[in-house]
Amino acid sequence: MAAESTKTVKRLSELADSLRVKPGATVSLDKDFDPAFTPASLTRKQGDELLGQSIEQLAAYQDRLAAQETYGVLLVLQAIDAGGKDGTIKHVMSGVNPQGVQVHSFKVPSAEELRHDFLWRYSQHLPARGQIGIFNRSHYEEVLVVRVHRALLDRQKLPAGARGSSLFKRRYREINNWERYLVANGIKVVKVFLNLSREEQRKRFLARIDLAEKNWKFSAADVAERAHWDDYQKAFSEMLSNTSTKWAPWHVVPADHKWFTHLAVGATLLAALAEIDPQYPKLDSEARGGLDEAKKLLEAEAPKGGAKDPAAMRAASAT
Ligand code: ATP
Ligand code: MG
Repeated sequence: MAAESTKTVKRLSELADSLRVKPGATVSLDKDFDPAFTPASLTRKQGDELLGQSIEQLAAYQDRLAAQETYGVLLVLQAIDAGGKDGTIKHVMSGVNPQGVQVHSFKVPSAEELRHDFLWRYSQHLPARGQIGIFNRSHYEEVLVVRVHRALLDRQKLPAGARGSSLFKRRYREINNWERYLVANGIKVVKVFLNLSREEQRKRFLARIDLAEKNWKFSAADVAERAHWDDYQKAFSEMLSNTSTKWAPWHVVPADHKWFTHLAVGATLLAALAEIDPQYPKLDSEARGGLDEAKKLLEAEAPKGGAKDPAAMRAASAT
């Protein structure tokens, strides 16, 4: 990797580190995190440039991730309504090969999904090796919306013994164990929480009402859900305190300034890929021999007076 790129990856990895919730720490969203934070040393223009560079790096890493086919990456995105999940996915993933990415948005569970254990539907959409999977909302809804609206639990058909006061503590543990299993089996779990302020949510809802091109995004249900703001903040804080683990830590990304949100999520994903450091597969001597054979056959088919192997000439001039 060129020295300039190494420097960019290092800088962005440091940014990702600074957003990480220390495993085991008890945190409170309103006391410990500022939704409007941007680094004093970074202007929006510099941030946008850095995002451009991180998008380039992401594409390069993804190419190697796909070629190596050993690791998968699962990006978990959680946020309150209007937190900016959709825009973040659109911007951060704009440079990567669409064949290597799947996004899945989790909505209210279907009747079929409710007939299964609570993690079942999420496991149906995990990325394969070589792929980046994005969960737009995720298994964490099971300790968020379900916690804020306990009546949702009634629809989950749980046996009596699986309910009771320790249910959410148990779910945290089960989620941690599930993620540990995924990571140990080569699926890296990268968790991002977009932290939006109440006032910025109000402004974004109003923009959805006032601007014709945003009307389709507005849902009266979102405004009704806003009435549960404090309950959600508490549920988010508990989630962060109980499920930021060594193997799958949370990153709390300030979400009031979209340019910084996009940069910070790009940095977090890039840092995860840099940690994996995927490599193009090396050929063994048998495979190498096969390529040499094929090369001879193709060179023999060169048109009269034409270059025998234009790709080799290009490769030589590039080094
Ligand atoms: P957008 O509004 O940007 O299109 P969204 O993610 O908010 O995206 P919606 O269709 O508006 O999508 O909302 C999905 C709804 O599904 C949310 O209200 C969420 O809380 C709910 N939901 C997701 N998972 C579960 C779950 N396991 N149990 C109950 N409700 C869930
Ligand atoms: Mg919505």
